[in-house]
Amino acid sequence: MLKALNLKNINKSYGLIKALDNIDLTVSDGEFFSLLGPSGSGKTTCLKVIAGFEAPDNGNVSIFEEDVTNIPPFKRHVNTVFQDYALFPHMNVRQNVGYSLKVQKMKGSPMDRKIDEILEIVNLTGYDLRKPSELSGGQRQRVALARSLINKPKILLLDEPLGALDLKLREKMQVELKNIQRQFKITFIYVTHDQQEALSMSDRIAVFNNGKIEQIDTPANIYSKPINSFVAEFIGTTSIFNKDSAMKIFGLDKAFSVRPENIIIMETKKDLAAIDKKQYFITNGTLADCQFQGSHLKMTYAIDNDCKLSVFKSLEGNINQKYDINIKHTIAWKKTDITTLNE
Ligand code: ADP
Ligand code: MG
Repeated sequence: MLKALNLKNINKSYGLIKALDNIDLTVSDGEFFSLLGPSGSGKTTCLKVIAGFEAPDNGNVSIFEEDVTNIPPFKRHVNTVFQDYALFPHMNVRQNVGYSLKVQKMKGSPMDRKIDEILEIVNLTGYDLRKPSELSGGQRQRVALARSLINKPKILLLDEPLGALDLKLREKMQVELKNIQRQFKITFIYVTHDQQEALSMSDRIAVFNNGKIEQIDTPANIYSKPINSFVAEFIGTTSIFNKDSAMKIFGLDKAFSVRPENIIIMETKKDLAAIDKKQYFITNGTLADCQFQGSHLKMTYAIDNDCKLSVFKSLEGNINQKYDINIKHTIAWKKTDITTLNE
């Protein structure tokens, strides 16, 4: 597989802050690759180093097997889409989208054809003459996208491009972005702090924390096999038992996590009798909180002294089901459904 991007041993400090701490990363041609992490974890700095807006203190950046560490941004065949669109306010949609072609001295019907083609792909046919101020947030982001795609970059970098949109529009744009990436077959490197967004769109994800990459893997593996407690807690809802509790309650000598959808509440003695006890971890919990979340209840149990356990209880067929706080339940999950963690 052709390597679209290779970062080797990248370090970048701002004064005493280590924004990037020994980053190694390889992205394949055509991948939708996300950099996911909390605010301040180094995602934007990483994009800037790839684009060439920031020089790393040491390490190497290669794009399609060419070392570009010392090559300026405009010669890297990489474009960036930002959250704030960065459109030219005085130019209309057509002029904004065609800008880079004009810089390349393209004009007349070849240029018009290219602009029409891309406007159709991003669903903006007919909006040619509007100014950015006459567009909605989602439309502006599509103009920004069209403008960055029109000169067919080898890699498109996107820094929280949907961050300014409301939830409904963001979800719609996620689907559109993914479709556009499929059509163009361009490698996308996508920065987000939203784990749901990263899980639903990416081929692979790098989880950033404090300038370091904690784990690089597919969404399914990041979710089901988090490598440590940071990743487990950052992605989705999970319950973590530290090493002491794991030993005390279950006789395990390692910390572990378990996902809420894997936990079963044993409401009756019959439920408990029905399972093969050798295959399950079984414990007792006191219900501390119960939230209605549409398709399920999110139930939080207190276990032992300081352990909390989240359970999603499906509401199929019984939307009005409720539980009293402080009720005690026996709770169980399959031994194979835990992920052991390096703390
Ligand atoms: P993210 O995009 O994940 O939120 P950034 O890459 O923007 O994180 O920032 C990583 C760290 O580097 C943060 O602690 C941030 O404050 C710091 N940082 C980023 N850019 C600069 C800069 N130009 N000068 C000083 N510190 C910076
Ligand atoms: Mg950022």
